[in-house]
Amino acid sequence: MGITRKTKAVKKLLSLFEPTVSAILAVDLIAQLKEEMNKTTVYRILDRLENEGIIHSFVGSDGLKWYAKCTGCSSNNHNDIHPHFQCTNCKKVTCLPVEIKIPIVENYTIENAAVFLVGKCNECSS
Ligand SMILES: [Zn+2]
Ligand SMILES: [Zn+2]
Repeated sequence: MGITRKTKAVKKLLSLFEPTVSAILAVDLIAQLKEEMNKTTVYRILDRLENEGIIHSFVGSDGLKWYAKCTGCSSNNHNDIHPHFQCTNCKKVTCLPVEIKIPIVENYTIENAAVFLVGKCNECSS
């Protein structure tokens, strides 16, 4: 796979994140891109983008992997310690713009936190 095609593939993948602020299931990304690239390529690009601080991943309540765009992250400084939220009505998963306060526990080094909240989103609760 040449560099040009790689760039095109990356752009194509990122374009799926553009029209929405919602997270996308890894399996859905693969399904939407299956005409253009295989599963291995999709995962390779996702890994790369995650390392570069462009997207982040998390696991939902059903154990499936989701991806969402980062805001203000860089390759060595991911600051995505925010809760993720799934609406029980429309099933959309979004990043919540609040920070999780990581508790300080003696003798423990806490590196990450994953909070997955479930309820009704702003569109469905009104
Ligand atoms: Zn909803
Ligand atoms: Zn997020």
